[in-house]
Amino acid sequence: MSTLQTRAERAAQALSAADRLSAAGVDGVVLGWVDNAGLHRVKAVPVGQLPHAAEWGVGAAPCFDAFLVDDSMAPTGSPVGDLRLVPDIAALTALSAQPGWAWAPADRYAQDGEPHPGCQRLFAGRMAAEAGRRGLEIRAGIETEWVVVDGAGAGPAYGMRRLIGLSDYLRDVLRALRDQGLTVLQIHPEYAVGQFEVSTAPAGPVEAADTALLVRHTVQAVSVRHGLDASFAPAVTAGGVGNGGHLHLSLRRAGRNLGSGGPGRYGLTAEGEAFLAGVLAELPALLALGAPSVASYLRLVPGRWAGPYRCWGRENREAALRLIPGSVPEQANAEVKCFDAAANPYLAVGGVLAAGFDGIDRGLRLPPEVSGDPADSGYAERLPADLAEATAAFKGSDVLRTALGEELHSAVLAVREAETGLFAGWTAEDVIAATRMRW
Ligand code: GLU
Ligand code: MG
Repeated sequence: MSTLQTRAERAAQALSAADRLSAAGVDGVVLGWVDNAGLHRVKAVPVGQLPHAAEWGVGAAPCFDAFLVDDSMAPTGSPVGDLRLVPDIAALTALSAQPGWAWAPADRYAQDGEPHPGCQRLFAGRMAAEAGRRGLEIRAGIETEWVVVDGAGAGPAYGMRRLIGLSDYLRDVLRALRDQGLTVLQIHPEYAVGQFEVSTAPAGPVEAADTALLVRHTVQAVSVRHGLDASFAPAVTAGGVGNGGHLHLSLRRAGRNLGSGGPGRYGLTAEGEAFLAGVLAELPALLALGAPSVASYLRLVPGRWAGPYRCWGRENREAALRLIPGSVPEQANAEVKCFDAAANPYLAVGGVLAAGFDGIDRGLRLPPEVSGDPADSGYAERLPADLAEATAAFKGSDVLRTALGEELHSAVLAVREAETGLFAGWTAEDVIAATRMRW
């Protein structure tokens, strides 16, 4: 990652990358970062400027930390100041569905070269480094669900008719992802009309968040080439099944998966269980990172497999924390199902790691499993029912405040509070209309 490199090293790495990209017909490089509202914001440079951009960064206003989903600003936003966007050259990718363009996720630094405390990707990097310090290897993956809007993709849920109808389109999604070096595990028509899902191979925490962005924008770029448009929003139609952004995680110590072969339930090791218990303990607060929009709570309701209950269960699709021992023990993992793609993936992944590490430090144990539909269990607690409730939990979370740092925690808080105010009193239909094509 760029954090570990000097300016000169970054410039040298970018110079050879720029030569390679130019030879491959790339003209422009997009530098992307995700704001606290979960929107991927970008600046772009001609490929010849990439070494300079890698060495010195590209200017971007700090007020983006206060941006809301509708491009207005929380009261904390100021027109003054500048930050530097520094592309991570190791993650630079030529975009197959946008010929002539490449993309690199950027970290944000102050003018003097110090890390910007409000940088979400650097936060995820710190949590990844903390995992390394603890001797843990993290594998993460974020599933992408989307709805092809306005008519295309009709047919039954999971239906072959749906796949046939958009056969060339889905093939092009597969091709583009493969050509960008991503390993697709699965692609399928999902439940809602026009809805599809693609999942990619697990990776380290920061890389998994980078990949989630790359997958989403590749799907969108292929959609545009096919005259289609894709919605990744948590809620696409009022009362309908929404788009999740489920986060899968597994932990390894010395190559051994902590979710299998242990003495605990379904083979959990004590450390693996403590990590998950930490996540469950912080889940209401984590929702402010993983389900960060007013629209998120239109999705997070019972009966839609969105995981709206604060409980865990083996292969339980209504539980926020779904344990997947799997048929291959090596692949055992847990899924945070309540998250959606409105999330800034760096905040979501980093926040979950922080909560899990706290669970390990406190030696937490999981509560009893919910093995049926949580709605019938009589004791499974609902997660926050709206953004205001999740934001209040986030405000009171010392674990997340400490991990994020005061500046990032308060920037996120300001955006959540402002968005709660922005949409206060709106109908579901109006919230959806305003947010459906934003992420
Ligand atoms: N679309 C559902 C959600 O909102 C998830 C369906 C599934 O993959 O289980 O999370
Ligand atoms: Mg799905």
